[in-house]
Amino acid sequence: MAAPGQQPRKPKVGGETPKPAGGPSLWVQLAAAFGVFLVLSIGYSYVRQYISAQDETVPLSQIAQDITAGTITSLDVSGDKITATYADKTTKTSRKETESSLTQTLSDYGIAPEKMAVVKIEIKDEGGVRFWALTLLPILVPIMFLFGVIWYLSRQLRGGAGGMQAFSFGKSMARLVNPEDEVQKVTFKDVAGAKEAKSELLEIVDFLKNPKKFIQIGARIPKGVLLMGAPGTGKTLLARAVAGEAGVPFFSISGSEFVEMFVGVGASRVRDLFLTAKKAAPSIVFIDEIDAVGRVRGTGVGGGNDEREQTLNQILVEMDGFEPNEKVIVMAASNRPDVLDPALLRPGRFDRRVMIDLPDRKDREEILRVHARSKPLGADVKLVVIAERTPGFSGADLASLMNEGAILAAREDRKEITQYDLIRSIEKVMLGPERRSHVLNKKEKEITAYHEAGHALVASVLPYADPVHKISIISRGRAAGYTLKLPFEDRRMQSRKEFLDDIAVSLGGFIAEKMVFDDVTTGASNDLQVLSALARNMVARYGMSDKMGPIAFAASAQRAIFGEGVENDQSSQEVAAEIDAEVKKIILAAHKKAEGVLTKHRAALDAIAQKLVEVETLERAEFENILIAHGITPKKKEDIEHAPLA
Ligand code: ADP
Ligand code: MG
Ligand code: ZN
Repeated sequence: MAAPGQQPRKPKVGGETPKPAGGPSLWVQLAAAFGVFLVLSIGYSYVRQYISAQDETVPLSQIAQDITAGTITSLDVSGDKITATYADKTTKTSRKETESSLTQTLSDYGIAPEKMAVVKIEIKDEGGVRFWALTLLPILVPIMFLFGVIWYLSRQLRGGAGGMQAFSFGKSMARLVNPEDEVQKVTFKDVAGAKEAKSELLEIVDFLKNPKKFIQIGARIPKGVLLMGAPGTGKTLLARAVAGEAGVPFFSISGSEFVEMFVGVGASRVRDLFLTAKKAAPSIVFIDEIDAVGRVRGTGVGGGNDEREQTLNQILVEMDGFEPNEKVIVMAASNRPDVLDPALLRPGRFDRRVMIDLPDRKDREEILRVHARSKPLGADVKLVVIAERTPGFSGADLASLMNEGAILAAREDRKEITQYDLIRSIEKVMLGPERRSHVLNKKEKEITAYHEAGHALVASVLPYADPVHKISIISRGRAAGYTLKLPFEDRRMQSRKEFLDDIAVSLGGFIAEKMVFDDVTTGASNDLQVLSALARNMVARYGMSDKMGPIAFAASAQRAIFGEGVENDQSSQEVAAEIDAEVKKIILAAHKKAEGVLTKHRAALDAIAQKLVEVETLERAEFENILIAHGITPKKKEDIEHAPLA
């Protein structure tokens, strides 16, 4: 039971002003650039002055006077600049008009020719650093500055400044993980469980490490490996681990990134990506979430996304274009392999398919262990127990469970994670955080209590339903209350009888509300949705209705939307009506069964509901005591797994 009365701690907010995420804004950068420009130009004018102020500058008339006075021994002319050297070896500079010649200018000042004759005049070619500096700098500096700013800004933009990525279109935008990058490197050690997947992928690793061995014996190397599995099962992680094990560059891009902004970009990105990968061969190209581009083509449904098709075509072209010994392996991941275009799955493309299942109990324990590596665990922690209580959790769920546990411990200023932290985290990950602030009024509380008691009682009485593990009327996520059931073991298959009882259990809440309050609330709407979908699947997909026979009617439902178009929907109107009738029949039968249970055990229902109103959360032992008190034998066998039932 979660400790009641525990105040939710708010994260401390410091007195700092919040900083905008990411780098400085564009305006700040522009202002900085302007500042730099200002400093540069001031500096330049200083330099210029300094260069010119080395010698004393005098007006030309002064020079003319001095020549007449005979104190000047020589004149150096360079461009429009005149340097006069005096008898006492001092120098003075002056300027003349650029166009007119010196002798012309001087004679204009009325200097006698014989005075001119004693002065040694040297006309120098304008040149040297000084000239170039003085003439070119004023032009070059602003140009270089402009280029600098443009380069800097474009680099900033490419660095992923929000929506500005538009500037880098065409480039593949793949992320590269280098084999030398020890921080980002992932190996098979980081991937717990998934043994079959790993052993299949080991072959790919072997090839990337030792391509010769395979080529010499004439083996055709797989070009594409498709990783399939539910979200969070570690597909992305495994792909990176392959690269890490093989020690080759790993180019990864997500399917949705191909189709991002501009029409025609997807295909050019593909081309770019493959070109880069080939240069770096042996290497791995990883296309994550490939269903974003790899959906069956030509449906016309959903606007017929040409862009997507072109991208997909380009991927196919690139994969076909590989030479047999190109040493680039394309890996892709998808959690919807059913919607992928058949052309992708043809031999020579993604011909290797690796299925990654949700982890079983042992794998779950190993995954927990991997994620507990850097976390101090208390002495009471038994990861086995946590693994037992988390059927249906993916690797990502388990990773987040460990993390939630650490957060709980840190919030309570403890140095170690305890078992209780982890147990609380299971429910948090499964159902979302408890919402204690979401206070139910007295009436709502009663209704919720009866609703959950209804689920729990039906589950305890019907033989094929999973036994109840915990009941609570503390709202979590979207559910007002919840009943956790525990199947006895990991299961891959479910039977018709189990489904029928499941539907009855789902109806338990609805029926209890109606029986006790003679009214129904919206609280049951999610239950109804789930059980209706289940009943429909039983009839139309699993062949569990005698009347409809062993035909999978709904198999085409997916295709009808993403596949060959709506007109291919194989079920006719009459069949659809028959399916509806069968669904209704199943649900009504389950309703009758659940109603029978609740009527017969009304006293137990009242007792459970009252206890729930009182304590809000009932653990298995307390719950079973109430059952026993009312003559119901609780289900035996040790509890192993549970699944939420809102
Ligand atoms: P997917 O790509 O299949 O949706 P990811 O590979 O992104 O899933 O997995 C998400 C996270 O879950 C990983 O980063 C890792 O922390 C954790 N995880 C998943 N599977 C495993 C596993 N088998 N072993 C260890 N961690 C795992
Ligand atoms: Mg992924
Ligand atoms: Zn319910």
